[in-house]
Amino acid sequence: MRHQSVAVIGAGLAGATLTQRLLEVGYQVTVYEKSRGTGGRQASSGLAEATVDFGAPWFEPVSDKFRNWLEDRPEIRRFIPPHRDFTGLKLDPISVYLASPKQSTLTRNLLEGAVFCSSSRVGKVYPCPEGVTVESDSGQLLNTHQAVIITTPALQAEVLLSAIPRFAEVAKFAESIPAWVVALGLRRRARKSVELFSGRHPLLARAIRDSNKPGRSAGPFAETWLLEANPQWSEAHRDSDPKQVGADLIKAFQAIMEEPLEIAALRTHRWLYARHRSAGSEEYLWCPENRIGVCSDWLRWTGSEGAWLSANHLADKLLTSLKTFSSHSSINLDGLP
Ligand SMILES: Cc1cc2nc3c(=O)[nH]c(=O)nc-3n(C[C@H](O)[C@H](O)[C@H](O)COP(=O)(O)OP(=O)(O)OC[C@H]3O[C@@H](n4cnc5c(N)ncnc54)[C@H](O)[C@@H]3O)c2cc1C
Repeated sequence: MRHQSVAVIGAGLAGATLTQRLLEVGYQVTVYEKSRGTGGRQASSGLAEATVDFGAPWFEPVSDKFRNWLEDRPEIRRFIPPHRDFTGLKLDPISVYLASPKQSTLTRNLLEGAVFCSSSRVGKVYPCPEGVTVESDSGQLLNTHQAVIITTPALQAEVLLSAIPRFAEVAKFAESIPAWVVALGLRRRARKSVELFSGRHPLLARAIRDSNKPGRSAGPFAETWLLEANPQWSEAHRDSDPKQVGADLIKAFQAIMEEPLEIAALRTHRWLYARHRSAGSEEYLWCPENRIGVCSDWLRWTGSEGAWLSANHLADKLLTSLKTFSSHSSINLDGLP
């Protein structure tokens, strides 16, 4: 088992979950990630000296399997944020789970033991007699592995799947939904003591007081907030100027808070592929001849739980397929990173 080298492309929840499953039974796993850190659409990022969750703010498990897994993780906390709609009407509390001190702590911990190649954007993946070759987007050979698993959003996966046209076709049909987000650092605490606003609004999907989530700090600010635009508005403003998007979201938020807010810092980010509409009925994709596979949130299930389920189903499959491949193979992959 020590000689088996698997590459995972993408360090989001799907890639990190799959990596951990392979590491715990002795595989060598190399993770290529185009960003500097881990988390993908569960990333946390800086706002001056504070850190804010810019992607999915938490997990809302539907299945017992996902809930039990979250409850067993040492970095996961349960959180029940006081919740109102955008008109101020009190809503039933929701029970969520999140990683502490930031969302990306979960993926960072899951990747412990893997070779993590950050700032490594993969441009091409193709089978070769020795296994599967991975090239950077500038055409540089990164390495050859026994198997390669792609966990990127659908449109990015489509390009990497050119060696398997059927898989590329599945990726092509997964519909991506964008989301604009704005992180705010406030000089003074807002008067309304609500942690989460959500519901119907022409512009916003959610407003979350990020610094009050378990384990967080507001850094140099009195508090930090994350505003998320709704999918329709984000789609309609897909190519708008980030400055204008920031101004529009802040104006809407000030109206909800019914007070002028003292904004010390703000950062606007567009997630082009924030969510997907499902691309069919397969839990994962795996080609045993080419030893290239896919797991993510754009196959049978969507969202964070979909990514996690897809990774686990593929891990179950790989743990049998790669074992079979290894016992019939004369390739010695010892020494590969
Ligand atoms: C603002 C926001 C709010 C959300 N809210 C919710 C929510 O409330 N509930 C919910 O269920 N889901 C929510 N989601 C969706 C959820 O975050 C995703 O479904 C989930 O995180 C997907 O995980 P993943 O591992 O499949 O993909 P990702 O997290 O996208 O991971 C893929 C990784 O691949 C990397 N990558 C891409 N291309 C390359 C390349 N060529 N080479 C190397 N690396 C590459 C990316 O940088 C990324 O790190 C939200 C998303 C956003 C953005």
